[in-house]
Amino acid sequence: MSFSTVNPYSGQTIKTFPVADAATIDAAIESAHAAFLSWRTTPLAERAAVLQRAADLLRKDSRRFAEILTLEMGKLIGEAEAEVELSAKILEYYVKFGAKQLAPRVLQANGFADGDVQLIKEPLGVLFAIEPWNFPFYQVIRITAPQTTAGNAVLLKHASNVPQSALAMEQLFRDAGAPEGLLTNLFVSHDDVETVIADPRVRGVALTGSERAGSSVAALAGKYLKKSTLELGGADAFIVLSDADVEKAAKWAVFGRHWNAGQVCVSSKRIIVEDAIYDSFLAHYRAGVAELVAGDPLDPSTTLAPLSSQGARDGLAKQVEAAVSHGAKAETVGKPVPTQGSFYQPTLLTDISPDNPAYHTEFFGPVSQIYRVSDEDAAIKLANDSPYGLGGSVFSQDVARAKRVGGQLETGMVYINQPTGVKADIPFGGVKNSGYGHELIDLGLTEFVNEKLLVISDIDGSF
Ligand code: NAP
Repeated sequence: MSFSTVNPYSGQTIKTFPVADAATIDAAIESAHAAFLSWRTTPLAERAAVLQRAADLLRKDSRRFAEILTLEMGKLIGEAEAEVELSAKILEYYVKFGAKQLAPRVLQANGFADGDVQLIKEPLGVLFAIEPWNFPFYQVIRITAPQTTAGNAVLLKHASNVPQSALAMEQLFRDAGAPEGLLTNLFVSHDDVETVIADPRVRGVALTGSERAGSSVAALAGKYLKKSTLELGGADAFIVLSDADVEKAAKWAVFGRHWNAGQVCVSSKRIIVEDAIYDSFLAHYRAGVAELVAGDPLDPSTTLAPLSSQGARDGLAKQVEAAVSHGAKAETVGKPVPTQGSFYQPTLLTDISPDNPAYHTEFFGPVSQIYRVSDEDAAIKLANDSPYGLGGSVFSQDVARAKRVGGQLETGMVYINQPTGVKADIPFGGVKNSGYGHELIDLGLTEFVNEKLLVISDIDGSF
């Protein structure tokens, strides 16, 4: 295996990096551990100052950072710039709220005076972060900002197709004045992941990625008794109720399914529409998808990016073929996508029966699963008939009704009248096969802390 930048638009291999050997792995863990030992006693205000400088550097050089994303995984340049800004906002969130969220919690315990029983949040140590390519900066910042605020150090294993993004994040923290090793990149192979997790200096593992990777890494975390969090795949339901504003809902669905070329864990992957408005919704949706413009992701007029790699494109094509061979109807929409680059023609899948493999599968690209349901209850039942439980959305002009439906979805996140989204100050996390644990806000900040109990008794106190 290798870590390589292959431009998904031109198909050219730009740069390849060697995989770390045993000595490099050990040195990286040691560097991260040394950083942790100094950082854990660094005052919170100094930690915050490093994060603020990282945010400022991202903003100052936003275009250069954004171009790395577009070069490595084909993201539209506008979306890449938005990702850089979102990453800066996450850093700033912890600059503003980190210290307050890490303050000791005073417990009211029977027989003790106020302040005598406390929970103090202490960092655990080096955390191993395994991250995906679809948001190469945001994913790294989403774990590094809270964890370094808490006093931990982060050892990063990024996806093998975004090595320059990984190096850019490592350099960002160096340039921001973090101690060497606080964010350490490691081009580690799957085979050596166990070596890292087994190392006693490594105290936790956070993985964002597929179910397959999550299950394998969580098993190792269990074997070596390390705390883990998993942010895995999803097949978000996008429910359109009969009283929704059909035109607006269709516009949101086009966006929700196609931003980042449809390669988002919370993309609107299963569009579930009540019978009464199904035909009208489908007509609007088809028209909206047809307007997407596939092309050079650096051209600001492009609205549909190539997929992250030729392999991703071919895998998606196979999934659609399998869906069709099991009885689904596939309708391609819009002008033919360019033959250069790993583009996939936007496709609408209908007539997907529960025994079709597509019914329970995540499609990572511009393929929409569209379901017609008789009523609200059928929509909820279908939405919950999924191995995943990440996000979901409900569209209705009656917010109380939408909330009632949303309340019955078995997911970690529900959005009313917009697709599941990402923001610096809103948490992220799922249930079922979408993983466990949270990232962002105080929930993410405290995933890897020791809530250490401190009980103070009066020396003269009686037994
Ligand atoms: P992936 O193959 O699981 O890759 C994610 C990361 O895991 C990469 O760094 C990958 O390294 C590593 N990895 C893969 N197999 C591994 C193994 N056996 N042991 C150790 N590390 C391993 O995921 P992907 O297909 O690239 O990414 C898309 C998936 O991530 C989708 O399912 C998507 O829904 C999910 N995702 C979830 C969230 C969330 O927050 N819930 C966010 C974004 C994406 P290599 O590149 O070297 O294989």
